[in-house]
Amino acid sequence: MIEVEYRCAWQWHWPELNILFNVSKQANNIFQANRQLGRRAHECGGQLFVSIDNDGEFWMFATPPHTLDKCGSTWLELDASRCKAEIIEANVAGFRLVGYWHTHPQEVPALSSRDIASLATFSERNKGILEKPVAVIVGRSSNSEGIRAWSHQSPRSQILAVHETKALAENSDNRGGKDHKASDGPSSGLANVQRS
Ligand SMILES: [Zn+2]
Repeated sequence: MIEVEYRCAWQWHWPELNILFNVSKQANNIFQANRQLGRRAHECGGQLFVSIDNDGEFWMFATPPHTLDKCGSTWLELDASRCKAEIIEANVAGFRLVGYWHTHPQEVPALSSRDIASLATFSERNKGILEKPVAVIVGRSSNSEGIRAWSHQSPRSQILAVHETKALAENSDNRGGKDHKASDGPSSGLANVQRS
């Protein structure tokens, strides 16, 4: 399903939550290929999974849109059966569900009240494996703020991630570089993402 390649497009950092994700090029390729550009284009999206590399770093991967999903120009409902199937398959491969992504017909995407309600539903549906999902929204702008991520902490608190370019040049041979050690990496805020 997801090709595991630890190549980093950028990082999302939530300093107040002590969470840092390497956004894989695999996820970025899916985001870039599905921007909602046409005037009549519909929203689309998929799920987000995290894998932990040998250095203890968290890597975000994405699944592509699915033909069973229901959507309109301003709404999207991921098909429940495909979501379930992806989670089962991902868990077998050592990935853990971390949230979902979808497109917006906005340059710089904003989290709507409907998105917040969907996040609460998503969290409820995946209770026990995912209490605080990450929501990625892909807008139209090709600048870094065109794709943004929020961590859903509670119905009243959604924390926007800081987009960071990975400091050191990646080395595809060492699974993403050594510039971020597990000891000072994400921990407390990600209690719901566990190693298999
Ligand atoms: Zn939305």
